[in-house]
Amino acid sequence: MRIGCHLSVAKGYPATVREAPKLGANCFQYFTKNPRGFRGQKPLNRDEAQLGRELMQTLDLMSIGHAPYLINLATADQELFELSVDALKKDLIIGQARGSHGVVVHCGKPKSEGLDYGIERMREAIGLVLGDAPAGIHLLLENTAGQGSEIGYTLEQLLAIAEPFPIEQLGFCLDTQHAFAAGILDPGDPQSFSGFARPDFLSRLKAIHLNDSKVPFGARKDRHQLIGQGEMGDGMIQSILTDPRLQAIPFYLETPVENQDQYAAEIVRCRQLLGAP
Ligand SMILES: [Zn+2]
Repeated sequence: MRIGCHLSVAKGYPATVREAPKLGANCFQYFTKNPRGFRGQKPLNRDEAQLGRELMQTLDLMSIGHAPYLINLATADQELFELSVDALKKDLIIGQARGSHGVVVHCGKPKSEGLDYGIERMREAIGLVLGDAPAGIHLLLENTAGQGSEIGYTLEQLLAIAEPFPIEQLGFCLDTQHAFAAGILDPGDPQSFSGFARPDFLSRLKAIHLNDSKVPFGARKDRHQLIGQGEMGDGMIQSILTDPRLQAIPFYLETPVENQDQYAAEIVRCRQLLGAP
């Protein structure tokens, strides 16, 4: 089973690939660019991307990119909309060059325009992004905690946004903390999340962000916590990790570690909960 974590690419992509196995990770996530900005981005280093890609094959690793948080695919602001679409197109090119299986983007925030507008606007944005997308990589929509005007916090909303797009191009990344905070991943019975039983969701589920939660069930806030130390706790994390329907999906930790090395202990904890030796 694949369990990994979010890693910095500050030292170049090949260095990140080499770092992952040292932490016990057999998959990893990275930011495609500065997570808080759009401008002043370094151009893609194709040689590094190619070297990293080859190393990943040698070391048997998988990776995903994570798009910047400023991207808003549901915005009515035309300038931000175009910036977002353009940024995401480039992220897919970066991800594909690096041999990643997907690039994750959060569902958008329509502000006062509301849910129906937000779903339509996201479909418009995704259509533009996928129209130019390289083959062999998924755009992965991440469910939100439903904070502020965020959409994509229920199963129905996620399916509605994704519905027009082919399964080969558009997938989902399920963040366990967001789902818990959104009130769709029940602490009493996490396996009862209806998405896990629905082929139209499960067939698109290509990545899981495994995070515990600083805030209680249904609190509608995006606040990650270390594995087993939050409101979800070991039992709930364990029941997700051991769900037979999820064994082929890579799990990526985004827990709030103080430094990257601490992910080694987080991954060990997950392996213990999984029951591996
Ligand atoms: Zn996440």
